[in-house]
Amino acid sequence: MGFSEKLQEYARLVARQGVNVTAGKYVLLFCSIEAAEFGRMVEEECYRLGACDVIMIYKDQKASRIRLDYAPLDEYKTLPEWQAEQRNYYAREGCVTINILAEDPEAYAGASSEKLQAGALAAHKAYKEFYDIMDKGGIRWTIAAVPCVEWARKVFPGNTDAKAVSKLWESIFKTVRIGRGDTVAKWQRHDRVLKRRAKILNTANFSALRYKNSLGTNFTVGLADSHIWKGGSEKCAEGVDYFPNLPTEELFTMPDCRRADGSVYSSMPLSYQGELIENFRLDFKDGEVVSYSAEKGHGALERLLSTDDGSRRLGEVALIPCDSPIAQSGILYYNTLFDENASCHLALGECYPDTMRGGELLSEEELLARGGNRSANHVDFMIGTDDMEIVGIKKDGSEMKIFENGRFII
Ligand code: ZN
Ligand code: ZN
Repeated sequence: MGFSEKLQEYARLVARQGVNVTAGKYVLLFCSIEAAEFGRMVEEECYRLGACDVIMIYKDQKASRIRLDYAPLDEYKTLPEWQAEQRNYYAREGCVTINILAEDPEAYAGASSEKLQAGALAAHKAYKEFYDIMDKGGIRWTIAAVPCVEWARKVFPGNTDAKAVSKLWESIFKTVRIGRGDTVAKWQRHDRVLKRRAKILNTANFSALRYKNSLGTNFTVGLADSHIWKGGSEKCAEGVDYFPNLPTEELFTMPDCRRADGSVYSSMPLSYQGELIENFRLDFKDGEVVSYSAEKGHGALERLLSTDDGSRRLGEVALIPCDSPIAQSGILYYNTLFDENASCHLALGECYPDTMRGGELLSEEELLARGGNRSANHVDFMIGTDDMEIVGIKKDGSEMKIFENGRFII
């Protein structure tokens, strides 16, 4: 398959497997300005599948950086109603959303943390209607990424820009299973493997997981009562399948945000709001981060943890074997969409209500009462290593080893 064929296949994958555009749907297409050409290809695929309208919303990271340097903090504290209404309106109309990212991992390094934080909080509040509809399964959504020069340079240093970009394209194609053979069939097979393992974990119904590795991680996290392990494709409220992330390798569920104890060491750098946090440790007590350290990006970690109360607690537990295609490639992408699929991870902040049986139907208070977590953040960080051992602990105290040497043994 030549480059242009792969590109076309990728655009199709996003519109079909990704959000599964059906006749008469509105598509909100958020697209990095650097990815405009690919964005238009996706737009056309959406119309071919019967979309009634595709609303293209370009994101310009470099312009956002200039705004961060010049606009006063007050401008970040609220989001104008007209801007919120764009997203909330289409959510009410039953849209699907596509995010095409081409991001520089260090675009916001050194920018005002106060503005970034205020902006994130204001957006979360203004788009509440959109997120509520999404949480109840009312919106199919997907995220995919394409290279930009700054990102490619970071992933493949020491190459010409053109070479780095082409290397990044090829590695992205590999992670999303585009190449020799039928892409759709490969995604269906992959989905079946994920679903089978999820079923085993759901049947075991563990009350907690205990992690250990040679980095120093020694940590137990409680799983919420009636948690559900999910992975691969999801079903929206209308009963249509979609893949929220391209690529995706993870099985994930809801922790009880009141039960986490011990220390966790990061195994990969975390890019948070355009800044890298490296070699960090979080110490948990009764579900909350009580102390922490970082060799690099201490300020960004502090900002993340102090966003709100929920940012110091966990909202997601995810398992990925170290022999997944992304892990095997050995490439560090400096982008969570890829790196989270290379390694077991946890997320600080907001939980996914649909990782608890009936969770979408619970009120905020009910969800909190069952150990769900609420926050303006949901930030994945990687903890998996090739010597990770994970033991599942059942309610009766009996134990079952599920991970050895970084791989599933179930
Ligand atoms: Zn995850
Ligand atoms: Zn996550």
